[in-house]
Amino acid sequence: MNVLIINAGSSSLKYQLFDMNTEEVAAKGVCERIGIGGHLKHTPVSNGKPVFDEDIPLPTHSEAISAVLDKLTGAEYGVVSSLSEIGAVGHRVLHGGQSFSESVLIDDDVIRAIEDNIPLGPLHNPANLMGINACRSEMPGVPQVAVFDTAFHQTMPEKAYTYAIPYSYYEKYNVRRYGFHGTSHRYVSAEAIKMLGGRAEGTRVITCHLGNGSSIAAVKDGKCLDTSMGMTPLEGLPMGTRSGSIDPAIIEFVANHEGLTREEVFDVLNKKSGVLGISGVSSDFRDIEAAAEDGGNPLSRRARLALDVFRYNVAKYIGSYVVTLGGVDAIVFTAGLGENSADLREAVVSRLGGLGVSIDKEKNKTRGKLLDITGEGSSARVFIIPTNEELVIARDTKSIVEA
Ligand code: AMP
Repeated sequence: MNVLIINAGSSSLKYQLFDMNTEEVAAKGVCERIGIGGHLKHTPVSNGKPVFDEDIPLPTHSEAISAVLDKLTGAEYGVVSSLSEIGAVGHRVLHGGQSFSESVLIDDDVIRAIEDNIPLGPLHNPANLMGINACRSEMPGVPQVAVFDTAFHQTMPEKAYTYAIPYSYYEKYNVRRYGFHGTSHRYVSAEAIKMLGGRAEGTRVITCHLGNGSSIAAVKDGKCLDTSMGMTPLEGLPMGTRSGSIDPAIIEFVANHEGLTREEVFDVLNKKSGVLGISGVSSDFRDIEAAAEDGGNPLSRRARLALDVFRYNVAKYIGSYVVTLGGVDAIVFTAGLGENSADLREAVVSRLGGLGVSIDKEKNKTRGKLLDITGEGSSARVFIIPTNEELVIARDTKSIVEA
């Protein structure tokens, strides 16, 4: 079976077509500037056909899906001969709220539940729905599956997801911790459990998804017990441009002193904070690492501080999740930064010396490959596990459609 994976944003739509016999990507691409022009980059992977990379009119997500299907099935850039060869579609959906603890076949009730969760994911859920509705109209009869970023974290106990604010806000508006990157935490924790011997029972794994957005999860017996992101992806670690957790009183203080509206303060916390805000250099850790090393750069000290704040907070969360889990058997580094930055991994693990965790510095120099980098005598294993959220979505879609 071929499975099409869709990740729809408000003006973009990323896709991958998986051949599920081999679990290989047959083609991938991205539509950009939907509604404000349009651009499609389509890359056939399986057969060496040329890349399509051009501006084309994409007034809505429906035209975007139609253009993608056209490229996937056409003679010049295609990887399948007709639409009938696409057996199912899997959609990444940001916020499942309390409605979904696993992936589901999409029907009218599921669409309504995703709509009901729009207040919790106001930017993403409407865009995800546009992708779903476009596929339903362009590919009638093809089963569609929704895979939620929040689903894996639904096993968190009440004490981990309840905020210490009036309980009526939870009762009335479902204000609680949900957590994100769930598909990634689920995939890498399952891979870590395989490396620990394969039995989930009794395992205690801390998964660090460190990229442009970052979150950490505490996983016991293969189930999430706690995670650093909250009701929205703004809580937890400092990130590329997001503040992560701060004293809530700062919001009113900054609004008063800078003369900003509530929306403007949240724009600062989402887009101008994190390591970008501290360093003044960039949101990309590669630029910050380079500036930190460059003594001639006037922002070098702030770049070093940004890295220090980030690494300190990663270590602090790991330490607190050792308490949550009652110990730790494996720590996993994944996503753009976790997989690729040896400096980050070394700096984080060096702060865990009090827990008896260490890495092998030579093995740690590896980038982007699955690897056990545990140091000699370490009290817990340390793994680099490249994440693959798209493959999880494709696998869930196939198994739900075939069930
Ligand atoms: P992601 O959001 O998972 O795609 O991760 C993207 C981020 O990973 C980038 O913004 C970089 O900050 C970081 N990154 C990727 N490669 C490297 C690298 N070789 N060294 C340091 N950071 C990296």
